[in-house]
Amino acid sequence: MKFAIRDDDTCYFTAPEELERVYSDVWDRVPICLATVPFAIGYERVGIPRAHWHDGEAFALERNSSLTGFLKSLIASGRATIALHGYTHQDYADGFEFQSAPDPERRVADGLRYLNETLAAATRRRISIFVPPHNALSKRGLAAVGAAGLNILGSFLSFSMRPWDYMTPANWLRISHFRRTTGRTKTDRLIYPHVLRYADHAEFGCHSLIPGTTVEELTKAFDEARNQGGDFCLATHYWEVDAAMKSVLLKFLDYAARDRDVRFVAAEELFA
Ligand SMILES: [Zn+2]
Repeated sequence: MKFAIRDDDTCYFTAPEELERVYSDVWDRVPICLATVPFAIGYERVGIPRAHWHDGEAFALERNSSLTGFLKSLIASGRATIALHGYTHQDYADGFEFQSAPDPERRVADGLRYLNETLAAATRRRISIFVPPHNALSKRGLAAVGAAGLNILGSFLSFSMRPWDYMTPANWLRISHFRRTTGRTKTDRLIYPHVLRYADHAEFGCHSLIPGTTVEELTKAFDEARNQGGDFCLATHYWEVDAAMKSVLLKFLDYAARDRDVRFVAAEELFA
């Protein structure tokens, strides 16, 4: 059983110390897939200075050179990998970036090229994963990501919002079977514990660690994935990890590590 961790929102506004605070005693056990924003525009959240909540300025990642240097060293030492997390991560009046931006194709292509040139080229690791901001994708956003050859690490995307390709009917059957065997109805939340492969990309769903998530919830989800012969990916945001969340994270990792079949891997390996 493969077990990976994804952390979202690394961007110009991220100080290396913030990542160190959460992961310095984790990334030697489990590499962290840092879903990174190449040209972040500020919004209202912890860790972004108030002056940039509404100024609309796009900040290129490399303007924070202490961060880019730090990320390269993390990649080189195998402690982190990099995924593309949107382009600016900005919200629109009618939706999130990859639902409402007028140019998702350009955003994926430019963002990918930029992150590869800025971070991955130095370490010879090409970026292969896209994490949608707010886990939200329109049909066009999904097509843009697939066309760029990136796999999606996010939450499950319903069949009603996706263009169907020749692989889709088999995936629909897999999900229907999973719902039946786990006693879920059509409206019950689900995180399918296997990779779903489509014509031009693959998808894997993550379990969230957010304020209020309990160890029990995570171990239950982990046990379900294991009983299904599946894999597991935990997703969180470094900027909201406080002492209580960190304690949940460590207890859950200890629980997973007790299982001899568990192999801690970089998120990219989920798609191997
Ligand atoms: Zn995000």
